[in-house]
Amino acid sequence: MTKNGMRLTGVRKSFGGLEVIHGIDLDILEGAFVVFVGPSGCGKSTLLRMIAGLEEVTDGEIAIKGRDVTDLDPSERGIAMVFQSYALYPHMSVRDNLGFGLKMARVGASDIEARVKAASAILKIDHLLDRRPGQLSGGQRQRVAIGRAIVRKPDVFLFDEPLSNLDAELRVSMRIEIARLHRELGNTMIYVTHDQTEAMTLADKIVVLKDGRIEQAGSPREVYEDPANSFVAGFIGSPR
Ligand code: ADP
Ligand code: MG
Repeated sequence: MTKNGMRLTGVRKSFGGLEVIHGIDLDILEGAFVVFVGPSGCGKSTLLRMIAGLEEVTDGEIAIKGRDVTDLDPSERGIAMVFQSYALYPHMSVRDNLGFGLKMARVGASDIEARVKAASAILKIDHLLDRRPGQLSGGQRQRVAIGRAIVRKPDVFLFDEPLSNLDAELRVSMRIEIARLHRELGNTMIYVTHDQTEAMTLADKIVVLKDGRIEQAGSPREVYEDPANSFVAGFIGSPR
């Protein structure tokens, strides 16, 4: 593994005795944009939630920057996760939504202000800081949700189907925004989607999952031009 990447070794997950993730081995280079793709129920969210520390690993190891994080709390892992549902606080301004997690982590007020300012500039939401989530469009809300991750300055960003609540047109423009964000920030990003087009356009590395197993991991070109099996060919080979 590269010193600063991430490595999953033999990662398994069972719920109530039923195994749904069956031993995942995966190397992720620092700064890579990795996309987990596969049909609904294949285990994408569970895998991401184990990396985030929101779900315990039943067996195996997750190492980030050479450190085993399997038993660390989410806040200790240097990761930040962006959810499909935004999970914004409706009664708080955008500014307070962006700063809340930092406040809880006892970051100083002037540092919070600086980070909120920087993140809102990157996401072009500086003019919305005094609004509440209810006064924002879906795309603007998703930017705030991403902003909340950026202010924490994580090593790794995790995205779980962040665009699936948006209409088709907005999905395309937000996808371009996320690609720009990755270029500008340079962080490792792991992005979950069931959308082949999103996977093909965003990824440095695509990880195709089926029933809790990796069917193939490779560059978009590799999985497209040289699919490992008919499942991958069928799933990736028919972009919408
Ligand atoms: P995806 O995100 O790819 O749609 P999930 O990771 O949500 O898939 O789910 C993978 C499998 O694990 C599914 O069979 C799902 O029913 C099961 N599962 C996920 N979370 C739980 C849970 N908390 N309890 C029991 N089963 C779960
Ligand atoms: Mg999911």
